[in-house]
Amino acid sequence: MRRLRCLGLMLALSLLLSCCAPKEYSAQTFAMDTVMSFTSYGREGERAVSAAAAEAGRLEGLLSVTRPESDIYAVNHAAGAWTQVSQETFDLIGRCLELCRACGGALDITAYPAVRAWGFTTGEYRVPGAEERVDLAARIDYTAVELDREQCRVRLPEGMELDLGAVAKGYAGDVLAGLTVRSGAESAMLYLGGNVHTVGRKPDGSLWRVGVQDPQGEGYLAVVEVENQAAVTSGGYQRFFEAEGETYWHILDPASAAPARSGVLSATVVGDCGLVCDGLSTALFVLGAEEAARLWRTLGEFEYILILEDGSVQITQGLEGRFSLAGSGEGREVQVIRP
Ligand code: ADP
Ligand code: MG
Repeated sequence: MRRLRCLGLMLALSLLLSCCAPKEYSAQTFAMDTVMSFTSYGREGERAVSAAAAEAGRLEGLLSVTRPESDIYAVNHAAGAWTQVSQETFDLIGRCLELCRACGGALDITAYPAVRAWGFTTGEYRVPGAEERVDLAARIDYTAVELDREQCRVRLPEGMELDLGAVAKGYAGDVLAGLTVRSGAESAMLYLGGNVHTVGRKPDGSLWRVGVQDPQGEGYLAVVEVENQAAVTSGGYQRFFEAEGETYWHILDPASAAPARSGVLSATVVGDCGLVCDGLSTALFVLGAEEAARLWRTLGEFEYILILEDGSVQITQGLEGRFSLAGSGEGREVQVIRP
């Protein structure tokens, strides 16, 4: 009898707990050339995820390089003249230029003519010849972008074009996370292609577990735990083509206008700001392991995971205790980078 009562009590308790577990809401959308998926919990979760999906569409309209109504398109088609843009775009370009400077130009938001020449925007892939690449590299120079703060205008030398592809999803993550919080949601996971942006913790109080994809295989090779942060990955496996036995990917070295070959297969950056994480993940992929460590030591305020060509893994000190190998990563060598 007593056992039965105890069983009844447990049943009632688990029913109560399941009633209390916050409801999960999710929404999917296709924006910025990638599938985005948003999950949020609790009473305001539904409002939060539908607002996020709508906002992603708005940001694409503002920042797309191919949409004629976008601010970026207008700047790129101004033939060297000043172009007025929205305050939001103006501020974003300013922040991006600072980031390009901090990365010593490994990140360069004027790479568009080169990105297009390789066919990465259209899917009509080709390998530009040596002479063409020299010309393309000469047209990548973030220091030539002029800003007129008074009138919110941007000017580029003729022949140069902006491409915010390396940072736009990170910026969108920041904006959508802010929107989610303002909608009243306390817990959310925003997935924007290779970018993950988290709000708070999981509803059960544990940290979010973000998988790091195996750049050479299927599935994950590691897991990193985060809270209220972004985790952004750039890798050569995300968009590439093959020609005459060679693989060419979409992250270019601004110095050569050709796919960056630094020995890094993927770079994951973890930090508070999605924009910075996105810009830096692209930059670290271009810079390689040694320069990545140097940048981390001088800039700080971010952590990273590099998967190198020999299969080994590097993580920065701040990720110790939050990082674990999993799946195809089991047994790999992990080197911890310290200040
Ligand atoms: P993804 O957008 O696939 O997640 P990234 O954030 O690394 O990957 O951005 C890559 C995109 O950024 C390319 O598709 C291209 O449009 C642009 N790009 C390529 N190389 C550079 C570079 N060195 N600096 C800035 N933008 C770049
Ligand atoms: Mg990036």
